[in-house]
Amino acid sequence: MSPGLRPAPHAMRLARRAWALQYLDVAASVALAERALAASGEDRLAQGWSRLTLGYHRMRHRSPTEGLAEFGRAQATLAEVADRRGELLALAGRARCCWAQGQAREGLAIVAPLRDEALRTLRHDELAVVLNTVAGCHSALGEAEMAFAYLFQALRSLNPRTESGYDAVIYCNLAHELYHLGDYLEALRHLDVGIARCAGERNPRLLGVLLLNRVVCLTDLARPAEALADIQRLLALPADAVGRDTTAFEAMAIAAVRAGRSELGEHCVNHALGCWPERALAEKRLELAVAEAVVLRARGAPHDAAMRLERELPLPQEGLSLRERCLLLALLADLHQQLGHEREALAHLRTWQALHSERSLLASRARFQAASLQTELLELSRERDVIDARRRAAQRARDELQALNQRLNEKVNEVQALQAELREQALRDGLTGLFNRRHLNNMLPAMHAMAMRDGQPLSAAIIDLDHFKQVNDQHGHPVGDRVLQAFGALLAARMRKSDVACRYGGEEFCVLMPRTGRAAAARKVRALLREWRKQHFDLGDGVALQSAFSAGVADSAGDSAHASWQALLRRADDAALAAKRSGRGRVVEGGGAEEQTEQLRLESPLPSRAVSSAG
Ligand code: GH3
Ligand code: MG
Ligand code: MG
Repeated sequence: MSPGLRPAPHAMRLARRAWALQYLDVAASVALAERALAASGEDRLAQGWSRLTLGYHRMRHRSPTEGLAEFGRAQATLAEVADRRGELLALAGRARCCWAQGQAREGLAIVAPLRDEALRTLRHDELAVVLNTVAGCHSALGEAEMAFAYLFQALRSLNPRTESGYDAVIYCNLAHELYHLGDYLEALRHLDVGIARCAGERNPRLLGVLLLNRVVCLTDLARPAEALADIQRLLALPADAVGRDTTAFEAMAIAAVRAGRSELGEHCVNHALGCWPERALAEKRLELAVAEAVVLRARGAPHDAAMRLERELPLPQEGLSLRERCLLLALLADLHQQLGHEREALAHLRTWQALHSERSLLASRARFQAASLQTELLELSRERDVIDARRRAAQRARDELQALNQRLNEKVNEVQALQAELREQALRDGLTGLFNRRHLNNMLPAMHAMAMRDGQPLSAAIIDLDHFKQVNDQHGHPVGDRVLQAFGALLAARMRKSDVACRYGGEEFCVLMPRTGRAAAARKVRALLREWRKQHFDLGDGVALQSAFSAGVADSAGDSAHASWQALLRRADDAALAAKRSGRGRVVEGGGAEEQTEQLRLESPLPSRAVSSAG
């Protein structure tokens, strides 16, 4: 199997997540990338993307050298699996490292040729990473206009739909370009946006750079006191977030001294000097010189301050922005003026003036670019607002739908419960809870047919409470109701599941017993009668009520294929009548179909089912 063809989807998911979190949560992104790398096994793609993310972190939070090494490995791995997107990003990373090491020209040589391919193959923040790198190299080479154009394009390429946190990087870099050209107010505006959009403590390094840029702007605008709060925030950031390869302490020193806080300024310069060996870039050297000079002057040593600055002359041709040159020359002219060296002061002032007008020219062009950028940004943010509103509306609609569905579900359940209850009510007798006569009439034909088909007897018992009218008459209707309920409960408790017990009407009950012959059914009803007789209804005042019933039992045994269920019921009813006639409180077995025919002949006309009136 060729390398990279043994996919580790879990590792790849981690690697993608690590890349996406790069600017939103640095610590989480590093941890995920390391886990992805450990889990990647043979999966070259996952390996490459983990290393890519790690490369960017190493470069920013450790050193460009470590970054370069990681980018080299990432590029080689991604080339193996022909992931050109990843390769382009690794190459951009290498260019960034060159620029961070003061080799902007080498960096540009790597990244500039990739521009067209990046525009074709990359999108959103991946494209922005490449464009920002091109911009950074131009910026370091003092080509502000080019830097501007690329930053502008980078900002446009970001996806307004997803929050990658990369926009804060671009705002930061735009501000950096703007203040180098002297457009401090515009720079401050971008910084405020950047600081608001930055993930803050989760990306302390970026927050540090944004704050530092604001410190520089406020100092150059002669509002250093306003920078003191940002300096405190910077000092409170974790140590590796500032002071490593940023100009944090030099710029903070200058701001602090200018705000009248010399001791804080001195503290910062000492800190900067402590980090010095790692600082190689020309601009950083120069800023340190200015910071030291500012501190010396504050200490009352303008001569030493001037000497410190003279040591930096002549200024190198490359790697310094107009702002930095102007910064040094203005201070130097000022110091010579203070020392009474009119000639030197004038010479430095002249050079400063030439640079300053060049800077103003660039600034006015930049302002034009910034204005058009502003318009586009406005449109972008409007688009973002529209999308946000749409997303919120969609979410609201989803919530409403969900609530509606839930209400609907509840309603359906309610209706179903109601229907079930109604069905029950339609089948049951309200007083005793037994089935009603309608249910019996529904069930009996099918049960009878089944019995005929299976060749198994079906028994029917008609049970009529004895002298029930008297109960009502003597104790009142409610007591009669209680007795009926008690009998219903006894019947329900004693019958089998397969039996159907119902209240047939008034104080009459009917029980259907499938697969039960007449004799067995009669035995069962007799047992029931014994039990019923034992029940005493306490009516208070020592009066107790007892009840009995008369019942007739018949079965379907011997029924012909065409026999009707009505006949079975009639036989049971006749037997019940016979029980009444023969003295009540007993169970009479009705005859089979043949005997019935016999009886019909003997006793014709058949007495009507008027058991209730026969008392
Ligand atoms: P027998 O022994 O001949 O069956 O006499 P009986 O009094 O039980 O028969 P009869 O048919 O004369 O009376 C039945 C009584 O049952 C009349 C009626 O008021 C009473 N009854 C019917 N349904 C109810 C009811 O739901 N509640 C109460 N309390 N009484 C009822
Ligand atoms: Mg009765
Ligand atoms: Mg009756």
